[in-house]
Amino acid sequence: MKGEIINSTLPVRRIVILGAGESGTGAAVLAQKQGFDVFVSDTSEIKPQYRELLDKYGIKYEACAHTESLILNVDEVIKSPGIPDKAPIIKKIKEKGIPVISEIEFAGRYTNAKTICITGSNGKTTTTMLTYRILKDAGLNVGLAGNVGDSFALQVAEKEHDYYVIELSSFQLDGMVDFRADIAILLNITPDHLDRYDYVMQNYVDSKMRIIRNQTEKDAFIYWNDDPVISEEVKKRNPKVTRYPFARDKKESLAGYIDNNQIVIKTSNGDFDMEEELVALTGTHNLYNSLAATISSKLLDIKNEDIRKSLSNFQGVEHRLEKVAKVKGVEYINDSKATNVNSCWYALQSMKTKVALILGGTDKGNDYSEIEALIREKCRALIFLGVDNTPLHAFFDGKIDTIVDARSMQEAVSQAYELAQKGDTVLLSPCCASFDLFKNYEDRGRQFKDCVRRL
Ligand code: ADP
Repeated sequence: MKGEIINSTLPVRRIVILGAGESGTGAAVLAQKQGFDVFVSDTSEIKPQYRELLDKYGIKYEACAHTESLILNVDEVIKSPGIPDKAPIIKKIKEKGIPVISEIEFAGRYTNAKTICITGSNGKTTTTMLTYRILKDAGLNVGLAGNVGDSFALQVAEKEHDYYVIELSSFQLDGMVDFRADIAILLNITPDHLDRYDYVMQNYVDSKMRIIRNQTEKDAFIYWNDDPVISEEVKKRNPKVTRYPFARDKKESLAGYIDNNQIVIKTSNGDFDMEEELVALTGTHNLYNSLAATISSKLLDIKNEDIRKSLSNFQGVEHRLEKVAKVKGVEYINDSKATNVNSCWYALQSMKTKVALILGGTDKGNDYSEIEALIREKCRALIFLGVDNTPLHAFFDGKIDTIVDARSMQEAVSQAYELAQKGDTVLLSPCCASFDLFKNYEDRGRQFKDCVRRL
């Protein structure tokens, strides 16, 4: 309940929060309201809106520093997901045996709301937004939290909801110990962020599987049944949670699949069907996202007609296969959020025309063989957009006839405009992070859209 100390027996009285962004400042407000002695520390500047929030609640903080004497004397630390475990301050905290948790773990202690938690290597934001939309349109008192939306902790502190749809990255999952999701959705597991996991894939897999930690048979675990990594883990762990697997092809054991061009959902809470064609989101990957969101909505008793309405209205999220414009018979699509090879694979797979593909950026040690066949089949031209295009040339040279380099979005879009033919698609789906030439993937996507609109 709002502002009330629910568990006053907790031994922790002094809490330090590392990172004064959305999650950190939200956690600070909740901790303050719960009567802790709170201190916030950030090695960078703190954005004005977050300073204001901390000031409003009279919370002590420091910017551009981590003062060890103020940090190492605490009972518990709440760490922003952006700070790696390798950071020297985290090492020192851990050496002293001080528990380090995430904002989600902390906020979970002070709410009785139902949580729908969504993770996966790709599709998290789309599935989170779609699920949120369905619940919200159906009239539930629902909050959007985690990687998207406002801080979970701040909502628990200031405007409690009955339900939360929470997007969770592996970094957030790492800091979750006693948290239990009522509904967990695991979309897929493919290599990503391995630099934070000592380049050991199993470490990253274990992190993702934390989504079902503490779940009991009363809880739901929704997952993509055809993902080899997930299947293997489910077999190995045999979790006691109630399982709702989904996949494209019909099988009796599935809770969601496609049959005769119909989406079919079967749960203990009733069944659902809908013409696949009426779903607004397109592409195989979005079909999976829609199946996952629909199963969770069914489990929450949303009426079939409400789910159908939301599925046919939801137009997707900016920078994810976002249609920008059609110029001289060429479609331009912004998929700037495709920061790994697997998401580009899904983008290419959903293309029905020849493609001029813009890709490149900060390469995280990518293996492009995953997209080679699709590129050979569908791409008329490749435009490499990055400061260092060497890894892309090393892989693709000789495999595709037309390859050009660009050093700015303007240049890339002009080249794509020249190379694409009527009926083609120009697709920005970079496989890489954006930090070499852009502030972030949003900046990259917006620059793309601006350039396209000026054509
Ligand atoms: P995330 O939040 O996990 O990064 P997004 O919904 O933002 O996922 O989508 C990121 C990228 O992955 C986009 O390029 C999108 O087209 C692609 N994508 C979306 N859903 C899936 C999925 N289920 N499987 C693979 N790729 C996907």
